[in-house]
Formats: sequence, C-alpha cells, structure tokens
Amino acid sequence: MTSPPIIQMAAPKPGKAPVHFADLDDVARANAVVDLGLPAFRAKQLENHYFAHLTTDPDDMTDLPAATRAATASALFPTLMSEVRSLEADGGATRKTLWNLHDGVKVESVLMKYPERATLCVTSQAGCGMACPFCATGQMGLTRNLSAAEIIEQVRLAARSARDGGLGESVRLSNVVFMGMGEPLANYKPVMATVRALVAPAPHGFGLSARHVTVSTVGLVTGIDRLASEGIPVTLALSLHAPDDELRDELVPINTHWKVDEALDAAYRYYEATGRRVSIEYALIRDINDQAWRADLLGRKLTERGSGWVHVNPIPLNPTPGSKWTASDPAVERTFVETLRSHGVPTTIRDTRGSDIDGACGQLAIEEQNRPVGPAARMRREGTRIGNTGVDVSKETQ
Ligand code: SAH
Repeated sequence: MTSPPIIQMAAPKPGKAPVHFADLDDVARANAVVDLGLPAFRAKQLENHYFAHLTTDPDDMTDLPAATRAATASALFPTLMSEVRSLEADGGATRKTLWNLHDGVKVESVLMKYPERATLCVTSQAGCGMACPFCATGQMGLTRNLSAAEIIEQVRLAARSARDGGLGESVRLSNVVFMGMGEPLANYKPVMATVRALVAPAPHGFGLSARHVTVSTVGLVTGIDRLASEGIPVTLALSLHAPDDELRDELVPINTHWKVDEALDAAYRYYEATGRRVSIEYALIRDINDQAWRADLLGRKLTERGSGWVHVNPIPLNPTPGSKWTASDPAVERTFVETLRSHGVPTTIRDTRGSDIDGACGQLAIEEQNRPVGPAARMRREGTRIGNTGVDVSKETQ
C-alpha cells in the first residue's frame, strides 16, 4: 500500500430519506395513523399489508375506508426506491437489482434461490467507510447511511419478487445477510431496526428466524458487544481475512484500531451471550494471506478461546477491477482448509453466487451516480461494473 487508507466512521448527513412506516416502532406507527385522522387500530392493518402481504399499494388495502386509502398510503409509504435494472445469473437463481434512492444514490441487493429457501444480500450503507483494499465498495468511500426503511424496503421488494416467481418459481425469502455494501455496525440503529423488523412475527415483521439473519462486520468491537446485548440471536460474521495484525492492518484497516485478538474476543463474547456459532470470513488472496502457517495461526487463535463456538468460511477472492490481487490456487485453498480442520475448526469454502453479473463478493462499485447522461457517458456506464455482494453464508459447499 502506498498511503494508509482513510477510515470514515461517520456518514455525511445530507440526503436523509423521507420517514416511512417501516422506520417507526409500534407506538410511532399508531401515532402516525392517528395523526392522519384514523383510529389507531388501522396501524395493525397497515402492518399486515406491508409485512405479510408485502404491499404498499392502496388498491390492495380494501379493509381501509376507500376515501382514505390513497392519502394514507402516500403519507406512510413514500416511495423510497425504484428499480433501475435487474440482472440474472446462475440460470435465473440469482438476481441482482440496482435501486435508485430518493436522492439519486444507487444501491444494490442480490437475491439468491436455493432448493428450500431464498437469501437476500442487503446493502446497509451507500458506499463504505472501512476502506478494505480488496473490496470494491471499500474503494468508494462512504456516501451516506441508509435509513431503516431503505434497508427494509430492499427486503420487502425481494420477498415479494421471490413470492411472485421472480426467481423462476415462487419461493419464500427465508434468509437475510448484511453483506451488501457498507459496514452494518457503523449504521447501527437503522440496521438494528431492520433486524427487529426481520424477526418480529408477522404481521408485525417478516417473521424470519434470527439464526437466518447474518450481520457481517469488519470487527467494530463496540458494535459487536452492543449487538450481543440486544437479545436477538442473529448470526454474526466477522470478516477477519488475516490472523496476524501486521497483515490485517493492511487488509482490514479498522484493525489499526481494534486488533485481531480484540475482534476475536468480541466474537467469542457474542457467542457466549447468544449461543450462536460465529462465522469467520476469510477471502483467500493468492500469496497474501493464504499460507498454511496463517491457517495454523488462525486455528490456534480460535481453539485457544474454546471449541464449538466458531466456524471458518474461506472464500476465493473475487478480484475487483484493477486489483493487483487474485484468488488463491485451489491446491493452496485445500491446504488452508485442511490445516484449519486439523485444529478441529469446522471450515467450509463459501458458496458464491452471481460473479458473472458482478453480483459476487466485493464487486459492488456504483459509479453511475452523478454521471452526465450523454451517449459517451451511457457507454461508459454500460461498461461500468455495478456489482454487489452475493454470498450466502448459510449455504456452504465443501
Ligand atoms: N462490511 C461488512 C459487510 C460487507 S461485505 C464486512 O466487511 O463484513 C461481506 C463480505 O464480503 C465480507 O466478509 C467482505 O470481507 C467480503 N468481501 C469483500 N470484498 C471481497 C472480495 N473482493 N472477494 C471476496 N470477499 C470479499
């Protein structure tokens, strides 16, 4: 690295999204309904439309008085995002959608179908302030935080698309991973509000099982401890990528602040508090972090804290445009996995999806926004990678 990357913890403020029904807690939802001159119980009906029927269309809300439907929907369900385009991969089983937010900011989410379920990879921030050099989003810097409703809308729209056959056949959205753009724990409150909406039983929320929700972090220790105290046992994924501080300082610059051991201790505390096995994410980068001695060091660091509390998900690096780095050799990858297993650490190479539509790990780089709309710009755009992270840690391949 030539110059040290600049970490941005706080997002610039401008561009806050309009307040939406999904931003509000139960009390605030009832108050918002009363403010519109409706009885409070209408809030429950609206929850049912939104979370159970996945609709914000007033025409669907036939249990509301006809005269108030349109005004209610437009006040409580402002349009937060519109689809710019959608790309398919893996024979239609993976769909990446580019969304335009109210202020022109673009974000993506990736929906993946598996035999029994579907997983959505959501974006929690436009850009990212964590500056990891191997990640496309990390190169963009942080544009802004997403509001809770901007994240929840990604989920509602994906759940509706999955239900309505957007992935070929009707399938229920069962898993959500915070592995799109952004560092979820750096946008804590909206992410937590989203988690609550995900796990609240229908019709108050989407009714997902907490273990089917994965929050992935670079290792913001205070955020991990806060998450552990919430009493919602979501799966925690720690993006480690190196077991030693010297290398991790470079690959995951927040490591200059919270060291490997501090991040692992926080992950272990998370396991103790929730009983949920933690995932360690490890992008295998050729000749950088893929040596057997590093697998050995990682194995030791994990087992010295206990057994049965963690598993490792190595993933071949998805090289980002212009990157000097590439994925590890398959034989090296095998040795890495076997070394970890020899320590008794469950290790599974992570299944990636959608690399042919830049929908795979670390491919998210939105260069579209604020571009002039001319033929040349359009051509550049078409050639632009607008990838996203399309990973599913709950489905692993050996
Ligand atoms: N900020 C969060 C979530 C972002 S991305 C985090 O870092 O955990 C989700 C996962 O994709 C992380 O483990 C991240 O390190 C990984 N990733 C990013 N770029 C990648 C790349 N080019 N190849 C493989 N994995 C990558």
